[in-house]
Order: sequence, then structure tokens, then C-alpha cells
Amino acid sequence: MSQKSNLKTNPDACPLAKKCGGCQLQNMTYPRQLKWKQAREEMLLGKFGKVDKIIGMQDPLHYRNKVQAAFGRTRSGKIISGVYQSSSHRIVNVDSCMIEDETADEITVDIRNMLPKFKIQVYDEDRRAGWLRHVLVKRGFKTNEVMVVLVAASSVFPSKKRFISSLLEKHGEITTIILSVNDKNTNLVLGEREIALYGRGYITDVLCGLEFAVSARSFYQINPVQTEKLYEKAMEYASLDKDSVVIDAYCGIGTIGLIASGRAGRVIGAELNRQAVNDAVANAKRNGIENARFYCCDAGDFMSEMAENGEKADVVFMDPPRSGSSKKFISSLVKMSPERVVYISCNPETLARDLRGGYMVQKITPVDMFPFTNHVETVVLMTRTDAGKRRNKLK
Ligand code: SAH
Repeated sequence: MSQKSNLKTNPDACPLAKKCGGCQLQNMTYPRQLKWKQAREEMLLGKFGKVDKIIGMQDPLHYRNKVQAAFGRTRSGKIISGVYQSSSHRIVNVDSCMIEDETADEITVDIRNMLPKFKIQVYDEDRRAGWLRHVLVKRGFKTNEVMVVLVAASSVFPSKKRFISSLLEKHGEITTIILSVNDKNTNLVLGEREIALYGRGYITDVLCGLEFAVSARSFYQINPVQTEKLYEKAMEYASLDKDSVVIDAYCGIGTIGLIASGRAGRVIGAELNRQAVNDAVANAKRNGIENARFYCCDAGDFMSEMAENGEKADVVFMDPPRSGSSKKFISSLVKMSPERVVYISCNPETLARDLRGGYMVQKITPVDMFPFTNHVETVVLMTRTDAGKRRNKLK
């Protein structure tokens, strides 16, 4: 497909697109975006086998369940909130965004408008003065629970009670409000200290029939509608049965492994981030799941140890970060030799690199998790035996 034919313009393009830079494909209509992504996947992955049709969204707007806004002032002193201009620290004022949750945007704008009345100062990075730095809103799309996190430079919040009741009056859907104290000169949004000002300090959401707790800091997929489709495809590829031994590598808060646990004999998860592992263990408990164990370690080290000890798995799910997997992981995987490997990837370039590791690609399905951006997620089924398909000889 020629570049030119991809650029059919989108009549509803965002007025902030150039300044914000978050939606690289917003100048294309949604069907065009899907074609663009399909073509990119075929270019990068076509040599490994047929790329099935990308799973797009029925309604590609307002899919983000997590919205983060930086607070600041213009030169003339007006309070603004929104995203940082691409590769800068200048804030682009956002009232509504085509990919963000609408409730989250409304809450953020209302907070911005409430600040003068409560004499709340926004933080000034240069002078290191002021109070409110960011607002983070997360919403459980299935449960409708809403978390608001006020990220501020200190825990002193004089108008706290009045502010909270005023915010709740406007937005009865808010189920928890958290103060995150970030007094450091840092690019990280959230501080280390969290104080629950209202509610439980976390929200829950339901994914593929299981309940997950989502805290301010825990990782949770930002497009839950497409995540369900992605995981369903992954489960289909895994064809589990009640005796299957499953590894969930790079498991995060355990979503894939826990969803698999109901259809498998035993699940073992590996994840580097301690907080995520704790969340995975808690999520297993929350759902009464007893056949899943989670370990905090490097996934490559974990696989290598498993392979060396002669431990076997029937199915390995792997969902590494954008940088892809490691040589150690792939070589241990080949040594362990599970029947099926389901590789979930958010970066087709590192995926293509990792697929050269010697397993046989059987199926490839792209899933559009991030409409309007140039990111594309892929789920790949690889098997140990040829099963009549072309062998990947690109080792
Ligand atoms: N499967 C999860 C999370 C995928 S994101 C889900 O669908 O929600 C990738 C995860 O890999 C992150 O949680 C990250 O902390 C973890 N990670 C990054 N490098 C790792 C490594 N070397 N070993 C194990 N986990 C790693």
C-alpha cells in the first residue's frame, strides 16, 4: 500500500494534535489506521507466516481508562492542565481528548476550575513552589469505580475537607480519592507516600470475568475493551486443558495467568516488579484461585533455572516490555521445549527479532489496543512441532 493512500484525512481530527503529539495517526480515519497497522505488521512479521486481520475497536474513541494531567500556569498566570508538549516540559491545556475517558477528563477540568476558590496553588517546577503537580484519574470500565489521585508537593492540605466534599458533590461516581506526596525534583509523576483521603485507596475492575484491584501505582492495561479481546485470542491459541502446566512470563499483576488458571492445572508467573507480584498474589486470593504461584525475578533467570532443573511446562505465555525478551529467555525456552508458546507483544520490531529464536510460528493476530497512535499489539502462537506449517529457519 502506498504511503499516499494511507493519508486519507480524518474530518474529526483533534485541534491539539500537533502540539500534543500523542496521536500520531489522528489525521487518518479509523479504517485507514487499521490498514496502516495491518500493512506494518505484514512488513515486519509476514516472513514468519500469515498475518490475520487486525482486531479493531467498534468504537475507537475514549478508550483510555487512565488519564494523567500535569498542572501549571501560563505566562499570564492562568491555570492550565493537560499533557506535556512532545519532547518538552511545556503543558498543553486539554479540556477533552478523543482517546481519554470522558468522565476522567470532566473530573480533571472541574478540579482545575475549583482551585482558585480553595486557594490551591499549582506547582511551579522552576521555583519549586506551589502545591498541586498532577491529577491522575482511573476508572473501572466494568465496575464504574473511579479513583482520583491528587499529586502534590506536600501532605499539608488546608482546605482538604471542603475540597473533597465539593468534588464529591460534582462527581458522585468517585469512589476513592488519594493524596500522593511528591516533593522530589523528578520526572516521575507519583510520589512514594500515599494517603487515602476518601474511600479504600484503590478501585477494582473486571477483566474476562475476574476481579482485579487497581491501585494508584499498579500497572493495568489502559484499554480494557481490547484487552479482553487480546486475552481471549491468547487463550484460544493456548488451547489449555485441566492438566496443562502454564508459565506466565512477564506477568505484571497476573492477569493472563489468572485468567488461564481456570482452564489449566497449574500456573506459575514470573515478574521483576515486586509491587506487581504482590498485586498478582492478592488478585489470586481475591478470586479464590489456588493453583497459581507468582515469583519476583527476571523472566530469563526464571526460565533458565526451570530448564536446568528439568521442569516442564505445556504452555508458556510471554508478554515482555517494548524492549522484547532476552537471549537467555529464548534459549531456555527452546531447552524447556513447551508444546505451545503464546507471545504477546506491544512492539512488532522486537517481536520480529525474538521470533528468530527457533520456535515455529503458527498464527499471528494484531490487536488494536491504542487507536489513533502508531502502537500495535500482536499475539503470536508458536509450536514445538511443525504441524504441517512452514518451519521458521531464520535462527
Ligand atoms: N502480562 C501483563 C504485564 C505485561 S507488561 C499484563 O498483560 O498486564 C510487561 C511486564 O514485564 C511489566 O510488568 C514489567 O515489570 C515486566 N518486566 C520487565 N522486564 C522484566 C524481566 N526482565 N523479567 C520479568 N519481568 C519483567
